[in-house]
Amino acid sequence: MILNKSLQEWKKEFPIIEDLISLKETFWINNKLYSTDEVLKNSSITMSEILDASKRLERFAPYISKVFPETQKSNGIIESKIEKIENMKKVLSEKIEKNIEGTLLLKCDSHLPISGSIKARGGIYEVLKFAEDIALKSGKLHLEDDYSILASDEFKKLFSEYSIGVGSTGNLGLSIGIMGAKLGFKVTVHMSADARQWKKDMLRSKGVIVKEYEDDYSKAVEMGRKECLLDEKAYFVDDENSKTLFLGYTVAALRLKKQFEDMNILIDKDHPLFVYLPCGVGGGPGGVMFGIKSLFGDNAHCFFAEPTHSPCMILGLSTGYHDLVSVQDFGIDNKTCADGLAVGRASKFVGKTVENLVSGSYTLSDEKMYRYLSTLADVEKIFLEPSALAGFKGVELIENSILGKKYLEEKNINPKNITHLVWATGGSMVPKEEMEKYYQKGKE
Ligand SMILES: *Cc1c(COP(=O)(O)O)cnc(C)c1O
Repeated sequence: MILNKSLQEWKKEFPIIEDLISLKETFWINNKLYSTDEVLKNSSITMSEILDASKRLERFAPYISKVFPETQKSNGIIESKIEKIENMKKVLSEKIEKNIEGTLLLKCDSHLPISGSIKARGGIYEVLKFAEDIALKSGKLHLEDDYSILASDEFKKLFSEYSIGVGSTGNLGLSIGIMGAKLGFKVTVHMSADARQWKKDMLRSKGVIVKEYEDDYSKAVEMGRKECLLDEKAYFVDDENSKTLFLGYTVAALRLKKQFEDMNILIDKDHPLFVYLPCGVGGGPGGVMFGIKSLFGDNAHCFFAEPTHSPCMILGLSTGYHDLVSVQDFGIDNKTCADGLAVGRASKFVGKTVENLVSGSYTLSDEKMYRYLSTLADVEKIFLEPSALAGFKGVELIENSILGKKYLEEKNINPKNITHLVWATGGSMVPKEEMEKYYQKGKE
């Protein structure tokens, strides 16, 4: 029994569960997608909070620029490029034997400075917010100060009295660990079994405490949360529930809007934006999605992408049971090469926040991610980690599946006018030898 229902009853009520259990690649369209304005009016997160988060990141820019010299050229703003990937579009078109008609763009969060993944948005933001709160309260920092003073020994000493904990499949730990340690905090990262060895090694080399668990991500989070409760000066970054983390991710949309303007890319009713976001627990993709819907409204159509072995968000959204059910409840093993997406239970906070904003969600096999990986490397010379490739399948689904075509028809969208934005969520920090192994798997 799962929540007092037999498996038979679950399957009868939600036929999609049959497909998820059999690890079939699945495409789910949200029949509870409502008018963006209506949803946002009743949302617990507001535009002024997104702008507030953005301003906080601007206050920190002089500090970031000082302590991470690689951010000097962007004046301490942690942002990624958008690449037009014409070669990839051609190869994808050949593969599906249909011309992809829209414009294909890649959002390269894989190459975000400092930690090389989408977590450099939310993760770093939450650590900065915590640091700012402490510094302001101490009276040693004022909002109008040049924040580069935070690099001084005085502040490092202040922050060293506090500790930060986090549970992670790898990349969140990297972001929190690198940023936290730089500021002077004691950081403990609780790593799930999926986390790659090189990530643990890198963190330890920076003085971060890494605790390893045989279990999956949910367990690592639970252990971290417990440990932090015991210590008054410990702060837990709660990837399953944190609004602060979520807000850090939303800021991406403000920057995206500006980038589109600079690139002369028009987004309006007749020229919609389609975004494909690899999803683990939901905070990263959910936050980015929330920001995008807040800025582009009904002209943006956002989809989550998950591995067939870890379809927690599609399960939570399609049943409406969110975090009350896990993929393991249904015998799905949560084992995938996409370590950033290896999450068995979705965030309730995120599920509830985006359930009427998300257009749909789909799953794809590990094999597909590897194939996209080597193809993108071959034709565009862009190297991503497996999780980060999950978005590509969405382009095919929208332009070349029955459900996708129906979605476009119903909304009166001409595929020629679509801007497809595949969100590449990680990869630039992967060591060369590891990347070579990924690439060879894709070739095979
Ligand atoms: C964490 C991660 C995601 C998904 O973010 P969630 O907040 O867990 O949903 C996607 N891709 C990569 C590479 C990640 O590290």
